[in-house]
Amino acid sequence: MIQSPLLPHFSGCIQGRWAGTLSKGKLTVSNPATGEVLAKVSDMSGSQTAEAVEAAARAVKIGSSAAQRQAWLNGIADGLLANREELAKIITLEQGKPLRESQVEVDYAAGFFRYFATCLDHLAARNLDSRIRGAQWSVHHRPAGVAGLITPWNFPLALMAKKLSAALAADCAVVAKPAGQTPLSAIALWTVAERTGIPSGRMNLVLGRAAPIGRALCLHPAVQVISFTGSTEIGQWLLKMTAAHVKRLALELGGNAPFIVFEDANLDVAVESLIANKFRCAGQTCVCANRVYAHRAIRARLVEALAGRISKLRVGNGMDPSSDIGPLINRAGFKKVSQHVADALRRGATRVIGHSPALPHHDWGCFYPPTLLTGVRQEMLVFQEETFGPVVAVADFVSEQDAVSLANGTPYGLAAYVFTRDAERARRCAEQLHFGHLAINTGTGPIPEAPFGGMKRSGFGREGGEEGLVEFCEVQTIAAG
Ligand code: NAP
Repeated sequence: MIQSPLLPHFSGCIQGRWAGTLSKGKLTVSNPATGEVLAKVSDMSGSQTAEAVEAAARAVKIGSSAAQRQAWLNGIADGLLANREELAKIITLEQGKPLRESQVEVDYAAGFFRYFATCLDHLAARNLDSRIRGAQWSVHHRPAGVAGLITPWNFPLALMAKKLSAALAADCAVVAKPAGQTPLSAIALWTVAERTGIPSGRMNLVLGRAAPIGRALCLHPAVQVISFTGSTEIGQWLLKMTAAHVKRLALELGGNAPFIVFEDANLDVAVESLIANKFRCAGQTCVCANRVYAHRAIRARLVEALAGRISKLRVGNGMDPSSDIGPLINRAGFKKVSQHVADALRRGATRVIGHSPALPHHDWGCFYPPTLLTGVRQEMLVFQEETFGPVVAVADFVSEQDAVSLANGTPYGLAAYVFTRDAERARRCAEQLHFGHLAINTGTGPIPEAPFGGMKRSGFGREGGEEGLVEFCEVQTIAAG
């Protein structure tokens, strides 16, 4: 069992009450590298979720000043950074990623609290310059109210931090549900936040099976907004479930990112960017390159350079400092990656690096070897769906128009990458690529200061930037005659 000063309880938190008895049932949290049982956490019910919503609704009525919220946000950022090593250890133990990636995740999470502490001015009322129709017009941002936050397991601290920071900044109260595989980072975040003196009821945490908790958040009339990060399928379910109440949703859903390398690109930059982007979190990120399109003239050189880099990557327990890639989250994830690779090989792709490991019999130790495939075509599974594993799949293209239409040729529109030295070509591609996040000559993902989110089936709504704050606000216009 894990022991940490940041994990004094393995339970949810309602109205500031942490109690092991919040539920009778328990869910097991295990280390995906070793199978070690880390904790048994409370399995809370739909009615306990409703109780948390009511606590949040009471807290929201009390309201807070901008200065108070700024102090809470900065207090949480300070608390996260002061506990950086402990938090990183918790992330790696429950999620599996290498410890140095977890340390970066803590910094990234703290960055959201810090950023939103600086942009509360954006919520100030705005007056229109002239009187129109005999009235003075002003625009106000009101807190949306109670926000439901639902997050996946790949960035167990940062994805919760993105939502929680914006919701608190907007003066909302929250009921948060982390992923079943990785609730410990959320418990640790709540422990850190509790020390800043945030009033009880403003931050509620529910742990347990997804369906009853999700249903309660969708159906309770006091929940005004649900911010969800996860699969497109569950996003679609939330749309249906909240339709009757016309609830506001922010949906950060799956991606299937194209990574286009033109013939004039700086190949060293493209290769290093791809390695950093693709193998982070063992390739289990929504922004990681899933489809590499290489111009025919440079494809062989790109593949050779990638092969050299990929063959040096080490797979192992994230707590071992020599590991570059940790385990996949579970057997289902491993099976999906294996199926994508098998489908590509069956349909004529070539495996340059990697092999086909046996499917583990359990949900831990699902280490998948870094793999490089060439000769991939658009119709193969590895290009049609998000692989969520350490597989680089490369296809050729010959014209700019082909590259753009191949890149746009899936229902997803989260992140895309373009490598070229031609600024005019980069501008043309940016205009035509239907992706919420477009990176040119860099493999970077989102930052706190800029809005991030998807187009098409990758969802709607933004996290980060002033737009991320407005997701948790209602805009009210007043015309004073
Ligand atoms: P998932 O199955 O959709 O789960 C995400 C979260 O939703 C978890 O907390 C899960 O709880 C919960 N959930 C499941 N069923 C629910 C229901 N009926 N009602 C309410 N909540 C429910 O996604 P995943 O497979 O864990 O995560 C990977 C996906 O997330 C990928 O598609 C990835 O691209 C996407 N993602 C997107 C972004 C982005 O910013 N766009 C970022 C990261 C990941 P349990 O864990 O308890 O089942």
